[in-house]
Amino acid sequence: MKLDVARPVFADPHRGVKIFAEYAGDIRASCDVLVIGSGPGGAVVAKELAEAGRDVILLEEGPPFGKKDFVQEAGESMHRTLREGGTRAARGNLFFPTMQAIALGGGSLINSAICARSPSFVFDKWAETTGTHALTRAALDPHYERVEKFLFVGPTPMDVQGERNLRFKRGCDALGISSEPTFRNVAGCKGSGECFTGCRNGAKQSTDVSYVPAAIRAGARVFTSVRAEHLVIAGRKVTGVRGRVVEPFTRKETHAVEIEAKLVVLAAGCMATPVILQKSNAPDPGGYVGKELQLHPGLAIMAVYDDPIDPWKGATQGFHSLHYIEDHIKLEVLWSPPAVLAARLPGLGHEYQGTLLTYDRMAPFDVIIAADRSRGSVRAKRNGWEPEIRFDFVQEDVDVIQRGLGILSDICWASGCSGILPGLHGVPEIISSKADSEIIRARRLDARDTITAANHAFGTTRMSRRPEDGVVDEDGRHHALENLYITDTGIFPGSPAVNPMLTCMALADRIALGIAARW
Ligand SMILES: Cc1cc2nc3c(=O)[nH]c(=O)nc-3n(C[C@H](O)[C@H](O)[C@H](O)COP(=O)(O)OP(=O)(O)OC[C@H]3O[C@@H](n4cnc5c(N)ncnc54)[C@H](O)[C@@H]3O)c2cc1C
Ligand code: SF4
Repeated sequence: MKLDVARPVFADPHRGVKIFAEYAGDIRASCDVLVIGSGPGGAVVAKELAEAGRDVILLEEGPPFGKKDFVQEAGESMHRTLREGGTRAARGNLFFPTMQAIALGGGSLINSAICARSPSFVFDKWAETTGTHALTRAALDPHYERVEKFLFVGPTPMDVQGERNLRFKRGCDALGISSEPTFRNVAGCKGSGECFTGCRNGAKQSTDVSYVPAAIRAGARVFTSVRAEHLVIAGRKVTGVRGRVVEPFTRKETHAVEIEAKLVVLAAGCMATPVILQKSNAPDPGGYVGKELQLHPGLAIMAVYDDPIDPWKGATQGFHSLHYIEDHIKLEVLWSPPAVLAARLPGLGHEYQGTLLTYDRMAPFDVIIAADRSRGSVRAKRNGWEPEIRFDFVQEDVDVIQRGLGILSDICWASGCSGILPGLHGVPEIISSKADSEIIRARRLDARDTITAANHAFGTTRMSRRPEDGVVDEDGRHHALENLYITDTGIFPGSPAVNPMLTCMALADRIALGIAARW
């Protein structure tokens, strides 16, 4: 098996990771490089700099989860692995959920493992927005390759697609819309459709079982259940970080933590990094910390078939279409635990129960959009560490998602469904013919007519050539603090058009190699 050759497989991939039960008192330590956050952006830097011979400490607020810790029940799983128990929401002209993980591995632990390179036009747009001309697709390609190789990224095999993914393909084929198996960071995926509650098959190459163990093998120290709270700033430098040990699940604060470091890398995620900077009173010459939040709003249509398709079988998001990507539209197959999907079904009482009984005949397909014109912000609340998130979904972007929903509806019908559940206010809850579904195009949708969710977030510490246009420079270095770097998705100057994880990791790889060359 390919995995055995490239990477030793340990019975316990988290061996060496410090956990809450091991902390007997306050923690004081020093290191060359302190990385905050073990998600895609942080874990890459920890491994690369530890392998380059630096003394690395990685802090992670969440605990590690092993295969045996994953539960399929959505409520319990979300309570344990997601911030605010999965109920975190953005407020603005609509109110919608946005999920971020609190776990070793960050979002990579619970995401669908889709790894997509951003197209060239994304980098051109970024350069136009904030002057990042050095950051071309060609410049990032070697870093995409390094990450893909390390994570066994490849197309989802047809034998684990399952009928749900194959019906999407069938619909796209019938309409001449290009579609393909998603590329994913998995080794030996069994198509169990459980990515959201954690991979019990050990197939997903989330950072907690890939980059973090490699960092530890290279000498990095990894402390979980530790929340970084304040950067210690002296002039133009950060000399360390103060924080707290936080008990998993109860969030009870215990011991104090103080780490001195020659260089600090913030990778706490697009929502948490600005909070740390704001609470630390870090200089912000451009005034962009926490501003320019961008999201990929997404909406799903449920296709209902006459025959059972057992939608729980098959890779979580095994197929997608990039056919309309230049129009800011990405089409995907979706899957999530029954309780999450059930919340989206129409009806009450017996009617609702009747809809639930068609569960084995349903397939959710979704559209996500780049939402280039909509903006939001992240602000530290006065008390506590949760962010206050605002986002306004502007009408031009609602129009784009409406166009995507029209196309998605066509795909559902071309795939052979007998009905669709569009999930839109002002549109019938169940539509039984293609002709009737034209209302999805005909009725002008308002943001408040949609049930959207957005788990791809960027822009809150954006990269820019000039200090007055952003927070970090093209090397990922803070414009005003010379030994502070940021490597989470907050540094994207705009939408990556596709799913963000791989671009985040490629950027982190590029920034880490740059640090290793300079420091
Ligand atoms: C359900 C879901 C499915 C998704 N599917 C995909 C997909 O298939 N493909 C894709 O490309 N993207 C997907 N995404 C998005 C992707 O997971 C994120 O974009 C990615 O994880 C962002 O990486 P990051 O390193 O910027 O932040 P995160 O992954 O959020 O990592 C940040 C880490 O920092 C920790 N942290 C935060 N604050 C502190 C602190 N103060 N001290 C210490 N540690 C702290 C957090 O606990 C977390 O572990 C999905 C997201 C969700 C929620
Ligand atoms: S589909 Fe199942 S086996 Fe495949 S990566 Fe996701 S959880 Fe693991």
